This record gives sequence, C-alpha cells and structure tokens, in this order.
Amino acid sequence: MITIYLRFYEELNDFLPKNQRKAEFVKELLLPTTVKDLIESCGVPHTEVDLILVNGQSVDFGHKVNDGDKTSIYPMFESIDVSPVTHLQDRPLRNLKYFVDAPLGKLARLMRLLGLDVHYDRKITGIEFLETALKKKRILLTRNRQLLMPNKVTHGYCIHSNDPYQQIKEVVRRFDLTQQLRPFTRCSICNSKLKKVAKKEIINLLEPLTKKYYDNFKHCPGCEKIYWRGSHFNALQKFVTSFDGMK
Ligand SMILES: [Zn+2]
Repeated sequence: MITIYLRFYEELNDFLPKNQRKAEFVKELLLPTTVKDLIESCGVPHTEVDLILVNGQSVDFGHKVNDGDKTSIYPMFESIDVSPVTHLQDRPLRNLKYFVDAPLGKLARLMRLLGLDVHYDRKITGIEFLETALKKKRILLTRNRQLLMPNKVTHGYCIHSNDPYQQIKEVVRRFDLTQQLRPFTRCSICNSKLKKVAKKEIINLLEPLTKKYYDNFKHCPGCEKIYWRGSHFNALQKFVTSFDGMK
C-alpha cells in the first residue's frame, strides 16, 4: 500500500467532497500511479490544473507518485513564489474559439454578444460534444467534468456557477479575455460576424420606435437578424466595463 498526501488549492476544492476541501488529505493506492490519474481519481479534471508540486518540486502529469509523497495541486492564476516551475496548461491561444456544451445555451449567447467565437448546438452533448469539439479544435466549456478528463482534451474549462452572468465572468477570468471583448460584433443566434448596414436599406423592417430613435445598424449575413445600439448595447457595455480590474 502506498500513501500519498494531497492538498488542492483555490477553486479546485469545488470538485472535492466537503471533508477534503482546503486541507491535506490522504489517499491510499495499491500501485504507484501517474499524478494525472491520481488527481482525476479525486474528481478534478486535468484541464483545471496548472501547477503540481510533489515534495516541493514542479512535475508534469506523467510523473509517478510514490509512497509518502506530498502533492500540492494549483489551478490557473494561483500565484505562487516557486521557480522554476512547470506550468501544465498552454498559455493563452492566439485564436480563441470555443465549443459550449448543450445545457449552457445562455452562456453561449452571452459570449457571442461579447464578440467571442462560439460554436453551440443544443442537440450536441456528452461524448458527441467532446468528439466534435476536438475535431473542430475548439476549447470545451462544460459543466460535465468527466468530459474534460481524457488525455486528448488539452483545452477546456469546467464551468462552476449556475448563473450565466457568473459563468461568463469565469470564462473571461480563466482565459484572460478582458481586452478581447467586442460587444455587438457577432450574432448571438448564429455566431456570424455582423456587418454595418445603412438605415435606408433596412428601414422597412424596423418597428416605428426603432426607426425614430436609432441610426446605427448592423445586420447578420448568416440569419438576417438586425442589431442596433439600443438599451441592450448600453447594458452590455456596462457589464463589460465591470470586468475591468477583475481577477
Ligand atoms: Zn445570425
């Protein structure tokens, strides 16, 4: 029997049963195992982990743990004064594209409203979601932590909150997106990029009050929806401003 001491930090504790949170606990194993398997046997997907210290040394997921090892596991953005360390998650990708799991439709819409490139299909979930996201080389966003555990999943995030507005804050924080948000540049229905359109070209499609009070319009080449800078725009702009300084 091998005894391993584990301690998870910050939001990684959300994946653990109450008696294992924010404290060191012991895991007994029959055989030495990789630290990735050890972490996932505790219910924490490897995509959530950025830094692992075994007896104070940073290691990668393939490292085998042995009897008596003390293992500390950190999420992204948990700053810690240890160097040199092996950061396990890739640094932010140049081109961030997401695939949002079927139960997270409101999050998908909000992300698109903020200009993020989001694939969403309410019929695609579970293993099909996992396989399609990998094929499309998109970052998986899901609340199903099991889908983030396979080795082949390299970019993903497990959404913690139930509330779509908290969910998008989580995504912005996790992928460091505050500078990349472009409200009202993408269609919330079909993800196409919006194009400016002259008022006179669409005037027949507008409601009387919209016609009267608004002059700047965009149109979606994908689904023909018309967007304008109304109260929605101001609310969204305010929401984005509230992200500044968020960490
Ligand atoms: Zn559209």
